[in-house]
Amino acid sequence: RIYLDHAAATPVRPEVLRFGMRFLDGFAGNPSTIYREGLEAQAAVARAREQVAALVGASDPGAIVFTSGATESNNIAIRGTALRNKRSGKGVVASAVEHISVLNPAKDLQKSGFAFTQIPVDRYGTIDLDALGTAVTPETVVTSVQYANDEIGTVQPIREVAEIVHDRGGVLHVDATDAAGRMPIDVERDGVDLLTLSGNPLGGPQGTGALYVRPGVRVQPVLVGGGQERGLRPGTEDVFGIACMGEAARLAAAEMPGENERLRAIRDALIAGISEVEDAFLTGHPTERLPHHASFRFSRIEGESIQLAMNAFGIAIATGSACTSRTLEASHVLLAIGLAHAEAHGSMVATLGRSNSMEEVPRIVEAARETVKRLRAITPL
Ligand code: PLP
Repeated sequence: RIYLDHAAATPVRPEVLRFGMRFLDGFAGNPSTIYREGLEAQAAVARAREQVAALVGASDPGAIVFTSGATESNNIAIRGTALRNKRSGKGVVASAVEHISVLNPAKDLQKSGFAFTQIPVDRYGTIDLDALGTAVTPETVVTSVQYANDEIGTVQPIREVAEIVHDRGGVLHVDATDAAGRMPIDVERDGVDLLTLSGNPLGGPQGTGALYVRPGVRVQPVLVGGGQERGLRPGTEDVFGIACMGEAARLAAAEMPGENERLRAIRDALIAGISEVEDAFLTGHPTERLPHHASFRFSRIEGESIQLAMNAFGIAIATGSACTSRTLEASHVLLAIGLAHAEAHGSMVATLGRSNSMEEVPRIVEAARETVKRLRAITPL
């Protein structure tokens, strides 16, 4: 079996699970208590906070708020910042290729009188910086631009985006779900005010995440309750999940240079091989893309059939985003890069991880070639 869908789900690393198990198996300790067990839980959360902060270059670990994942972090960042600052203005800006967990809270804010502007991207998925410069005004309370896209792998020019947003006095949120652990992120160097992270892509459990909130940025909670996580994410902490996410962040940071180089080589071989298939096209940016990401579209065939045929060859691979696969709508990302509806349906996305090797590439390319040949033979398109 060859597993190529790490963006949808990454295997939990055994060493991460071993580390975290001590906070699950028979453990009782609430970080809000001050007897020994509570202090142990507190220490585990504090350690994880430092590790996650280190992964993204945050000098103050107190700026990290643990959440249940990227969707929650994005919601706190968009809603929480917009609502807290609504007296300064009612504008929200995001790129057209953001994940739906950014776009939907922004659209929802329109019901509360906010104006939401989406910034177009070019055919590679790179944001239009001129359009961004026009859209962000002193009325804009939050601007959201992802670090990299999960469907087409394109990495955005975040430092230039930050300059534009800050020149206009704005707050920049960056969704780094797919980039963290794959790119050297530094919130201070990059000028990021709010940063979304997910624990699973790092090798931690599903349902773990974090939001970096630059000290001084005003955000109101989406959930209200106890004062945990600086009141921004009340509720008893998931000590096991947080400890695992911290350990996964530590390992990802330590291994990033070597592992990225390894994955980039496999990615490039995959791109070279699959691009040879008739009427196959790379989607996303040819060079400014995630090191573990190879995405394609094929004319005249349909993504779901590609996925099923590849599955029969023993290969788990995505067609677009796992999050939209239930709706059967054309991906908003592929439409935003200018594909027609029919073209946007034939997509295939490989996201690599630790289990993948160069030896798998010929089998994947051959399976893709055979899949495309068989599907084209029976397509009514
Ligand atoms: N943001 C991006 C860029 C993603 O790719 C995803 C998931 O694929 C999410 C947010 C949502 O993550 P989750 O479903 O873990 O909340």
